[in-house]
Amino acid sequence: MSLPTYRSKRDFRRTPEPDDRHGDSRSPARSREPQAGGRFVIHRHRARRLHYDLRLEIDGVLASWAVPRGPTLDPSAKRLAVQVEDHPLSYFGFEGVIPAGQYGGGDVIVWDWGRWRPEPGQANAATALRAGELKLVIEGEKLRGGFVLIRTDGWAKSCRTKPKWLLIHRRDDAAVHGWDAEDHPASVKSGRTNEDVAAGRRAKSR
Ligand code: MN
Repeated sequence: MSLPTYRSKRDFRRTPEPDDRHGDSRSPARSREPQAGGRFVIHRHRARRLHYDLRLEIDGVLASWAVPRGPTLDPSAKRLAVQVEDHPLSYFGFEGVIPAGQYGGGDVIVWDWGRWRPEPGQANAATALRAGELKLVIEGEKLRGGFVLIRTDGWAKSCRTKPKWLLIHRRDDAAVHGWDAEDHPASVKSGRTNEDVAAGRRAKSR
């Protein structure tokens, strides 16, 4: 995993997203932000199309998937998750507006964050991802419980395209039928919605 793709897609003179080559000076860790090591974050990103970006801290980067319909606690729903470029750890708490015309132009909030771990007995995360199946346990503020990420197309094809995965909640105590991410729109970091961020409103005290 590495970050040249992340850098090559962005013009850091125009986007407020973090440039990992210049250190993480933009957003000092807030007390509520999960400590480094085993974190996950999900950004709600209104780009050309709305999607949610699931990011898992693995080996010093944020391995990332774009989930068009958003994650869910509903175990009967299989959500498409398109693997995208690894993001730097400094992206973790990013909220802001990426200008129109730039890669991913649109507004971004921290929709959920917390900790994740491989399910007991699961190989280490990098190995599991290469094998195309990662069973994980998530402890976030909105999402909880067991999930599985399963790659749906073969490795050879995935090397040439953006690999497609399915994100599925397991049938466990945290499962909730009919649960929809769109019913929970506020940022866990700032209390803002995407509309608030787009309008330049400040973080709400919580
Ligand atoms: Mn995105």
